[in-house]
Amino acid sequence: MDSFEWVDATSVEHAVALLAAAAGPGGPIVAKAGGIDLVDLMKEGVVRPARVVNLRSIEGLDRIAFDERRGLSIDALVTLAQIEASPEIRGRFPALADAARHAATPQVRNAATIGGNLLQRPRCWYLRNHYFHDEGVDAAAALASGEHQYHAIFDNAECSLVHASTPATALVAYGAQVHLAGPGGRERTVPLAEFLRPSRFEQVRDTVIEPGEVLTRVTVPAVAPGARAAYHKQTERESYDWPICDVAVVLEMQHDAVAAASIVLGWVAPTPRRASASEQALVGKPITEALAREAAARAVAGATPLAKNRFKLPILEAVVRRTLLAAAGA
Ligand SMILES: Cc1cc2nc3c(=O)[nH]c(=O)nc-3n(C[C@H](O)[C@H](O)[C@H](O)COP(=O)(O)OP(=O)(O)OC[C@H]3O[C@@H](n4cnc5c(N)ncnc54)[C@H](O)[C@@H]3O)c2cc1C
Repeated sequence: MDSFEWVDATSVEHAVALLAAAAGPGGPIVAKAGGIDLVDLMKEGVVRPARVVNLRSIEGLDRIAFDERRGLSIDALVTLAQIEASPEIRGRFPALADAARHAATPQVRNAATIGGNLLQRPRCWYLRNHYFHDEGVDAAAALASGEHQYHAIFDNAECSLVHASTPATALVAYGAQVHLAGPGGRERTVPLAEFLRPSRFEQVRDTVIEPGEVLTRVTVPAVAPGARAAYHKQTERESYDWPICDVAVVLEMQHDAVAAASIVLGWVAPTPRRASASEQALVGKPITEALAREAAARAVAGATPLAKNRFKLPILEAVVRRTLLAAAGA
């Protein structure tokens, strides 16, 4: 790993000022939260910063708060372990608590922050190998004909990279928003579904965050009384693993019928994908095995699997059906 300068940020404003400084000839200036993804990429030689701005030194950016009117607020430095353990999140946003609980390992969850999790780079052998960046190799072509079995089965004509964050699947289902602080005191709020953007090999980030901006918190609107939710991450093995796909379901109920549904599919498209046709199939009806089966069939319609990831289709269909039934308690 190349040497770099380390700076402890003392506040969000300080971090913004440090990150907004023009990158020197020695390389870019990058933020570090838990460091799980960043240090990995630095060790691989994919990211070679001149300066690392440590965000973990900012005090008070690690709180979870809930208010019936404003909903849930999760500061950027809250760890996945904190989300998993929060009684407020477990009680009111169980799909998010489950998504955090099933991400990575206990050690990783203790260090990984929600901000860094949403900003991590895709898991792709080609993207994470400096050879494909340094040598002018056509990584997109290598991926198209190579090892793409865990990549996108939807919207993959240009590039099949998928976003890595599994908590994002649940957060998009709950309608989360991301809050950013930038140079000149500028603050902005972006729906998470719009914050995440399709990855490309030539990009250095997979979100609409701009250079110099710091992600300060994630907010989630309060769910309707009686709402039901479930999350499932399907892996190849029982031990910690990246998903084949993950699915989050949030249902607003009126008596026994679905009043509104949010079904989000992760790891099957460049960004978490709303299964809109499945959602529409549910409205006004009670969830039954037959209806869940129909909604699941709709969720996979229009998929364009690649040579090595067709196996994801029946798995995704089964996971949508089971997660729907779990959410409904059926
Ligand atoms: C074995 C293993 C299994 C894993 N399994 C999963 C899994 O199942 N699901 C999953 O979602 N993840 C998984 N991960 C990935 C892990 O969760 C992420 O690497 C981690 O969440 C990143 O968070 P961090 O705080 O360490 O971010 P960092 O590595 O510190 O930062 C990541 C990126 O975000 C930027 N950044 C961080 N915070 C901010 C901020 N507040 N504002 C602006 N920029 C910022 C950094 O510059 C960097 O580009 C796994 C990792 C490992 C090692």
